[in-house]
Amino acid sequence: MIDVQNDSDKADLIRATSTGLVCDAGQFVIDPWKSTHTALITHAHADHARPVAQVYYASESSVPLLKQRLGEDKDIRGVPFGHVVSFGQTNVSFHPAGHILGSSQIRVAHDVDVWVFTGDFKRDHDPSCEAFELVPCNTFITEATFALPVYRWQPGSVVAEEIWQWWQSMQSAQRPAVLFAYSLGKAQRVLSELTAYTDKPVYLHGAVEKLTGIYREAGINMLPTIPIDLKDKSVDYKGQLIIAPPGASGSAWMKRFPKASTGFCSGWMRIRGNRRRRGYERGFVLSDHADWPGLIDTIEQTGATRILTTHGQSSTLVRLLRERGFDAQELETRYSADDSLTEETESDSTLNSSLDSGQATS
Ligand SMILES: [Zn+2]
Repeated sequence: MIDVQNDSDKADLIRATSTGLVCDAGQFVIDPWKSTHTALITHAHADHARPVAQVYYASESSVPLLKQRLGEDKDIRGVPFGHVVSFGQTNVSFHPAGHILGSSQIRVAHDVDVWVFTGDFKRDHDPSCEAFELVPCNTFITEATFALPVYRWQPGSVVAEEIWQWWQSMQSAQRPAVLFAYSLGKAQRVLSELTAYTDKPVYLHGAVEKLTGIYREAGINMLPTIPIDLKDKSVDYKGQLIIAPPGASGSAWMKRFPKASTGFCSGWMRIRGNRRRRGYERGFVLSDHADWPGLIDTIEQTGATRILTTHGQSSTLVRLLRERGFDAQELETRYSADDSLTEETESDSTLNSSLDSGQATS
């Protein structure tokens, strides 16, 4: 990735550098990927929350997730949504991004200059996290993971009904239904959406179980869950729904579920070939990122005249925004599309090894 440190960017309130999104006036870095003192963290996904800072600030509901990811010993300070904290010459506040539990947009104000970084965000209803809040600004730094017109989402409740129908058909067929879903956010969203259709328990891979426990402690209503104990040979998984991180797909772990039907939950399932290539029987199009209309509507609603996009592959979006009179530009960052097929697997297997160390049961 290329650092963006042009002369023209020197006056910018927030700059993309090799350390992260740096705010000189506030003496902090947003979602840093290199060593720094003060970090402001948008959310607990691995590409945004790395153990590289001395002090971390994040939304209150992010704190337990960040402690799980970064370590209990880390100095992580929770800030209530909407509460203004002064850093150097800036005033900073966190606002819900609707992506996962605790996920935040970060608003940075310096005199009359107001910047908002979305982190990852979505506009669709999600019963497992705080709803997105529109925050007016001059400069809007937006994620652009699904920045193509083909990406349009159905409501999560509709996708959950598809999952429920698949689960029911596997009950009839007496086969396990193994659903691969990102272990932080997506898995809990599915568990929450499914409460509209059933109260049956769901079996969870170890990496999903601990994070689900944090959601339950935060008061999120979800189906009852049972951690999978591979040593317990008495459990019959026929007709049961099992949720596992994508990294478990094709692993030895799957041997415990003979004749399983497999499904994958991701925005990338919108592209039919992705499901086939990965060998999943079912693809469920469920994303925790804004879709194409969601991105454009949000950009227009903020009132910002300058738009910076992250996550790359946003040239189509940038071109459209320029046609509509925006000062739009792609920003080079190291944030990965955590809904993606590759990064998702990578970050989940990292999490797996940290959660499952010394624990052979999952
Ligand atoms: Zn994310």
